[in-house]
Amino acid sequence: MSAASDAVHRLSVHVRDFPAPGILFRDLTPVFEDVEAFRAVTDELASPFEGAFDAVLGIESRGFLLAAAIGVRRGVPVLVARKRGKLPPPVLSEEYSLEYGSAVLEMAPRRLDESTRVLVVDDVLATGGSAAATARLVARAGYRLAGVSVIVELGGLGGRDALGDIRMHSTLVD
Ligand code: AMP
Repeated sequence: MSAASDAVHRLSVHVRDFPAPGILFRDLTPVFEDVEAFRAVTDELASPFEGAFDAVLGIESRGFLLAAAIGVRRGVPVLVARKRGKLPPPVLSEEYSLEYGSAVLEMAPRRLDESTRVLVVDDVLATGGSAAATARLVARAGYRLAGVSVIVELGGLGGRDALGDIRMHSTLVD
């Protein structure tokens, strides 16, 4: 077991029936409160894609923390995919399904070089709807997609299948 997956096992909290009945919510915020665990987890998210990405994109909102840490440590630009109505125009929009409900993610059109390879990061992959929508945004914005990297992949919800051929890494499958 890697230092990162060990830290996630030790620190993550499972919360029953949040934010809706029947959902087992994985609260990974305690990982952010532990300096060594946060460093190990963010390193583990990026290292499988070493040399294969030039920018990192965080999905709102816990993905922002991960992308910011990776961007600063690796010296690459940080991009964001935000929930509807948070970014000023011009924006690109993609609708997606969540484990609980549906929503829209938005992203600014490309401002970096068109050769930029973008690594998408988030804390949890459930149905894969938000990561797949973000992958579509990255393509529509005019970037290349390096892959998707998450801390926890919820097995059995089809998230990996929803990403099709997209290169995907998870620190652990729960
Ligand atoms: P999905 O689009 O279904 O893959 O859902 C992933 C997004 O929703 C991520 O941003 C997660 O933070 C959040 N999410 C979905 N299900 C859970 C869960 N069971 N525990 C924690 N976060 C979740």
